[in-house]
Amino acid sequence: MSDVYAEPATAGDPTDPATLARYTTLRLGGPAGRLETAENADQIVLKVQEAEDREQAVLVLAGGSNVVIGDQGFAGTVVLVRSRGFQAVAEDVDTVTVRVEAGEPWDDFVAATVERGWSGLECLSGIPGSAGATPIQNVGAYGQEVSETIVAVEAYDRTERRVVRIPAADCGFVYRGSIFKYSDRWVVLTVDFRLTRSPLSGPVRYAELARALGVEVGDRVPLADARATVRKLRAGKGMVLDAADPDTWSVGSFFTNPVLPGDVFEQVRERAADLGQPPNWPGADGTVKVSAAWLIDKAGFAKGYAGPEGVAISSKHTLALTNRSGTASAAALVALAREIRDGVESRFGVTLHPEPVLINCTI
Ligand SMILES: Cc1cc2nc3c(=O)[nH]c(=O)nc-3n(C[C@H](O)[C@H](O)[C@H](O)COP(=O)(O)OP(=O)(O)OC[C@H]3O[C@@H](n4cnc5c(N)ncnc54)[C@H](O)[C@@H]3O)c2cc1C
Repeated sequence: MSDVYAEPATAGDPTDPATLARYTTLRLGGPAGRLETAENADQIVLKVQEAEDREQAVLVLAGGSNVVIGDQGFAGTVVLVRSRGFQAVAEDVDTVTVRVEAGEPWDDFVAATVERGWSGLECLSGIPGSAGATPIQNVGAYGQEVSETIVAVEAYDRTERRVVRIPAADCGFVYRGSIFKYSDRWVVLTVDFRLTRSPLSGPVRYAELARALGVEVGDRVPLADARATVRKLRAGKGMVLDAADPDTWSVGSFFTNPVLPGDVFEQVRERAADLGQPPNWPGADGTVKVSAAWLIDKAGFAKGYAGPEGVAISSKHTLALTNRSGTASAAALVALAREIRDGVESRFGVTLHPEPVLINCTI
């Protein structure tokens, strides 16, 4: 079976199939104690249960596009999620509910929904990884988040040792988070999305996207136009995977945009008075989300800023840290992340937090 996720064996020890660097977009990560591949939901449950019966720790890995795995690897069992497919499970005049297997490549799924005239995921085009990982951090981009269309997640509950259906309201979705992130309890098996039957996108919410489409914020555009324009904008920032472009050997954004209480934001503005206004988005509860990219850049870390062993900030996007040599260690990437976090902290008094899940490494 072809494996769309695995990288060519250029990372880590190419003779060792258990070198996790081969399964991550950063091309980082030492060996797995044991590596299992699950090709359907039943197998995912079985492989996890078997590891538990051996009293081994379990790491569920799909596209490897949102993890930083340390150089010592993962001593337990790594279960590679490779289930495939999707089907409509409920329909009415206006909507269709689609159930997608966890291992389905996300962008293939988005392309299929756009082709069928199902509106709701088009602005999430070009994001790497699997459909089953999208609820983990409530994947979002260009004004859409999966929490707007997910109606339920089917998961294996490792505490109860049974398969459960979790309605969206119980998933705890927040900006780049959910009950699933940083928790070993649930293994996502399928995700149900309720999409709208429409040849048009939802209202375009992101100013940069509206400009690129030549429309006003709030307008709707043909689904295929939204998808193509999002992919083009993303490619220009190194945010679509490209084996030939080391600017994409990353986890996308390494840091989340900090969400600050109003008074803390005012202090940041004062500290940044000589630099102009930090891009920001007021929240409903008096909080303010601030651009991490701006803070990083103004703290002295420009695009291309290099760390040890050929790790560097992407030359196309300030938020993406890359293993551009393809041969760096996770320790080198983490050292660069730490330097940036500390630099922003001392310049603006704001602590940046990593967006990817760190496994056996820490910043
Ligand atoms: C170039 C690039 C651009 C990106 N752009 C965006 C973006 O615009 N917006 C955005 O939100 N993200 C973005 N990302 C991050 C990433 O693509 C998404 O978070 C994606 O959903 C991760 O999917 P994955 O299958 O690769 O997950 P993995 O990296 O394999 O896993 C990530 C985490 O989820 C857990 N996990 C994975 N599958 C399951 C499962 N079935 N059940 C339980 N836990 C599971 C893993 O254990 C791990 O903790 C980008 C990444 C890259 C490399």
